[in-house]
Amino acid sequence: MTDTPFYDVIIIGAGASGLMCALQCARRGKKVMLLEKEKQCGRKILVSGNGRCNLTNAFVSATDYRGTPELAQAVLQKFPFKTCLDFFHKLGVLTVQEENGRIFPRTGKSTAVAEALRLACQEAGALLRVDSQAVKLEKKKDFKITLANGEVLHAKYCVLACGSKAYPQAGGSESGYQLARQLKHHITPLYQTLCAVNVKEKAVARLQGVRAQVKITLWPGTPQAVSNEGEVLFTAYGLSGPAVLNLSGFMGPQLSKGPVPLAMDFFPDIEDKELFIRQRVKTFAKRNAKEFFAGLLHENIANLLIDFAGVRKNVPVSQWTDNTLKTVAKNLGAWPFTVTALRPWTEAMAAAGGVNCAEINYNTLESLCCPGLYILGELLNVDGRSGGFNLHFAWGCGYTAALAMPEE
Ligand SMILES: Cc1cc2nc3c(=O)[nH]c(=O)nc-3n(C[C@H](O)[C@H](O)[C@H](O)COP(=O)(O)OP(=O)(O)OC[C@H]3O[C@@H](n4cnc5c(N)ncnc54)[C@H](O)[C@@H]3O)c2cc1C
Repeated sequence: MTDTPFYDVIIIGAGASGLMCALQCARRGKKVMLLEKEKQCGRKILVSGNGRCNLTNAFVSATDYRGTPELAQAVLQKFPFKTCLDFFHKLGVLTVQEENGRIFPRTGKSTAVAEALRLACQEAGALLRVDSQAVKLEKKKDFKITLANGEVLHAKYCVLACGSKAYPQAGGSESGYQLARQLKHHITPLYQTLCAVNVKEKAVARLQGVRAQVKITLWPGTPQAVSNEGEVLFTAYGLSGPAVLNLSGFMGPQLSKGPVPLAMDFFPDIEDKELFIRQRVKTFAKRNAKEFFAGLLHENIANLLIDFAGVRKNVPVSQWTDNTLKTVAKNLGAWPFTVTALRPWTEAMAAAGGVNCAEINYNTLESLCCPGLYILGELLNVDGRSGGFNLHFAWGCGYTAALAMPEE
């Protein structure tokens, strides 16, 4: 084991927050070493947005975050949307804005973002070592970082930018939590978020591949009810799509105690479903059930609803009993499902939970347990909803910490 040169800053993790922090530190004249355990940096940036990288959102605000939104608010004050967009434009990444404020690189490829950051780091003089996993972190006067191969590095400041355990196939691991614990940090319970769910109702497999615009409510009719509108995708095992992904983070703690009830509204824009169905029955009185739903619902959803509601298939809808009519209206507005589990970590896009933010200075992201240590991004107990918010937070953390680090 040989001791290697001394760095001003060693950043552990060359993902979204680590690359941003390395670049900003190097631009401020610091001698920076960026360590990455994988063979390539920014692997989650590369897989993000289905390979298109939804890098930020024009409407980002603290309400888009869970866990510790107050910390997200402090980061957003220093790194609002406009600063983010200007930063990437200056980096040479042209962007386009799509629906709901989502921003993508104009090339349509996430490589534009990852490569622009990597090149800018290199140009600013930050050193990058891939295939270099930090396994031990100690602090005496300075930081001592031991790599998996036994090599030891020293630095005045250390940044933990290791990300979460979500999506291990793109570098997700428990490593960051382990390193944080070595310097006395605590980790709040971890749950998959931005993640699809399994449901008890096996018949859902009949809808595999079908998409619909819906409003989803968890724990309907209770004080803890929480809703989200958007697209749902039916799968062989259950439900996916943005409307479900955005609610998945709420379910983790509850699912360890038992299943979570979910109601699906296929027509959130129609307030009185029963009146709507009664009027439609009058208009199309001679149609049978299947014909009645044509133009209203995807054929497979209609077929399942007909079976589920016990509707007689071959009689004109004018013969529906009051009870049938009410059942159809009720299921269109609140089709019940029972969520039994979140899909595994390999399918989760992020983690809810992480380093306890009570142990972090919100304005600098410096550890309150260990001066000189900074903790960034998804490793913290902050998670954003789908739409570019997690990457925005990661860039914002890297930016905030670099600016807060004392000048040499
Ligand atoms: C499939 C998928 C799609 C996504 N799409 C989007 C999207 O479109 N928009 C959006 O906003 N968010 C998206 N996200 C979430 C977003 O990618 C993450 O929130 C963000 O990358 C987190 O940044 P980070 O810097 O905290 O961690 P990461 O980007 O995960 O970087 C952490 C890095 O640290 C490395 N590392 C970990 N431990 C060590 C160690 N001990 N030593 C050395 N290196 C280490 C890891 O290998 C990794 O490269 C997506 C995530 C996934 C999985």
